[in-house]
Parts: sequence; structure tokens; C-alpha cells
Amino acid sequence: MYHPCTLHLRSLLRYNILMPRERLYRTEAVVLRRHDFGEADRMLTLYTPELGKFHALAKGVRKLTSRKAGHLELFMRSQLLLARGRDLDIITQAETIDPYRTLREDLIRTTYASYAIELLDRFVEEANENRPLYDLLVATLNRLCESDELALVVRYYELHLLSLVGYQPQLFRCVGCGKMLEPEDQFFSAARGGVLCPACGSAYQAEAVPLSLPALKVLRFAQTHPFAELANLRLRAALHAELERVMQHYIVFMLERNLKSVEFLRLLRREARQGVAAAELATDPSAKAEVPSWKG
Ligand SMILES: [Zn+2]
Repeated sequence: MYHPCTLHLRSLLRYNILMPRERLYRTEAVVLRRHDFGEADRMLTLYTPELGKFHALAKGVRKLTSRKAGHLELFMRSQLLLARGRDLDIITQAETIDPYRTLREDLIRTTYASYAIELLDRFVEEANENRPLYDLLVATLNRLCESDELALVVRYYELHLLSLVGYQPQLFRCVGCGKMLEPEDQFFSAARGGVLCPACGSAYQAEAVPLSLPALKVLRFAQTHPFAELANLRLRAALHAELERVMQHYIVFMLERNLKSVEFLRLLRREARQGVAAAELATDPSAKAEVPSWKG
């Protein structure tokens, strides 16, 4: 028999109440941002599956002899060992899981990847765990390496990222009158967070942009189907451009409402120019737009 006090102590220990927090911990992470710090250090913004976004210091990483250096590049996915610090945690070991080399060797892919991580950085608060969003980021970086449908990779990412941070656009009911949408051309209102039927769209024209039926079909399909199915669609360059315009209209509205930086909006526009050029190159102009069928 244990003395009751001993039992109490054991349960306290089991629940970590008396234990100091572990000094060292492991996590995998994608590097979102980095900047030089002090003589030879670097401050990193990391995105992780269990801890969300946070900053950590990589000491001595700019020295030629650093063993961590090659594992902490921008949008690299690595396994890290960190030590808890008073203000900042310190990266003590780093080992690459996926360097996403293709992303670094192809300028268009690099731009899309930069856009993807910036978008996440802008929409995500620190220390907010969101495992599905981490998985989406990793899947997107993989797709940006492997897929030739880069515009679709990014549209899919935008739509699902917005959903995962609480801004899922309403694509099935009119956000003005609440009626189910009919298969016809519509409007999109960023301020109202979704599609406006033709009647409501005409009434609120100042705040809405036109949304064609094919574009709405693709957005709905992307919102409700796995990426592999979306990637089978072959869209005309004009439809790609429309999808991008609508998503940017929504994203810019959300960022401006949240007082996000002008610099990022500039990057968005650069992505837009390169994206349209890539879509035009990749798309046979005579190809018929294959859009999903209407599902009410
Ligand atoms: Zn309506």
C-alpha cells in the first residue's frame, strides 16, 4: 500500500504538474520567412503541424561551417530539434525532409511557391494549430513541384486555405437573398463572402464582380472535390484568368480589411502576370473548355 500522499504525488507527476516543461522538443516545419539576425544568426518564421506558426532562432547558421544551414532554406520542409528559450526558441538541429528542389530551379514555380507561403503567413495568426492547413501547404508545395497545372494548384490552395481560416466563400446559395443558385452567370461579392444571384448582383453592382457560369462550376468543383480530379480539367486561358481575377478580388478584400501589407499585394500582382503567361503557354488556344457539370 502507498501512503495517500505518495499517490497524490504520483498523479501530479503523471499529469506533468510538477515537471518542468521539456527543454527540448521536436517538430517538422516549413520555413515561411527568414531574415539575418546579429552576426551569424538567422530568425525564421516556421509553420508546423502541432504548434502552428512561430519564430525561432537559428544560431550561427550563416557560418560556412554550420551543419544546419542547408536544411533551413525558404519553403524547405525539415525535421527540427528546438530548445525552449526565454523569449525565442532556438533551433539546435535540422534535417531536411523535402528540399522541393524543383521549386527553386524554375522561376515560375518559385513565384507560385513564394505566393503560397506568403498567403498562409498573412492569413494565419501565431501559435494557432491547424493541422489540415499544414497538410494543405505540404501537398501544395509537392504539387507545385510535380504538376503542370500550376494555376489550378494555386486556385485549389486559395479556396481551401480560405476555408480553413474561416473565410470559405459561399458558392451554392445567393449571399444576398439566400436562394439556391441556378445554372447561369452570376456575380461574386467579396464583402458578402460569396456568390450573388443575377437579381441581387444587379442590385449590389458596386460591390460585386461578374462571375460566369463556367467559372462558378470550376470553383464549386474545386471546393468539393480532391485536387486530383480538379487537375484533370482542361480550361481555356480566359477561364483561368477569370478564376484568378475572382479569387484575387476576394483575397485582396480580406487582406485590406485585415490591414495587410502593400508589399504582398504587389507580389500577388506579379504572380498574376506570370500566372496568365504560364496558362497561355500551357493551354492550347483551340482547346474546348471542359468544365464540370452543374450540381445544384
Ligand atoms: Zn439573390
